Amino acid sequence: MNRAVFLDRDGVINAAIYNPVEGKLDSPYSLEDFRLLAGAAQAVRAISEMGFLAVVVSNQPGIAKGKCDYSFLEAVNARLRRHLTQEAAFLDAIYYCLHHPHAQVKALRAECDCRKPKPGLLRRAAQDLGIDLARSYMVGDSPTDVQAGLAAGCRTILIDGERRPQPADSAATPHHTASDLLAAVEAIKREGGIVWRSS
Ligand SMILES: [Mg+2]
Ligand SMILES: [Zn+2]
Repeated sequence: MNRAVFLDRDGVINAAIYNPVEGKLDSPYSLEDFRLLAGAAQAVRAISEMGFLAVVVSNQPGIAKGKCDYSFLEAVNARLRRHLTQEAAFLDAIYYCLHHPHAQVKALRAECDCRKPKPGLLRRAAQDLGIDLARSYMVGDSPTDVQAGLAAGCRTILIDGERRPQPADSAATPHHTASDLLAAVEAIKREGGIVWRSS
């Protein structure tokens, strides 16, 4: 069985972008806005070097909400992989939930089991890639990432670089907090992640 570090995308690997209309951080919706966060490529590389699969699990309701189309999402993936490759970092898989319960696009309007905080994306990846969820990690910058990780039976790390208030809800209490992805990977190393080898 493989171990994985599941990674949220926006705010973990690449910068989330402030959306002034919604008054909150959002996915980048122009390629010019897409940039890797400092240390992210190095962290992804370290995940592979420790013998973990690096698997992105991300809610991307932009198509459902009419903010972008499939070709844009493909272009972002290509850019993401290219930026990582330039630093010898590699993602084993990318899983997106494209659904939204109030989607404008009817085909994507659903109460699905894969939109985090639900664990569907992690479970699907585990099936596809032979991942032992109990020996894997979920790293994200939102309480919903932590909830999804906990629901899947993973260990969880919340990136709290923006010093968001922690929810009192114990369903979203992470095993660790870290300032960024590189610090999260250090926490995994400290837990002995490096001891394990894929067979
Ligand atoms: Mg995020
Ligand atoms: Zn979904």
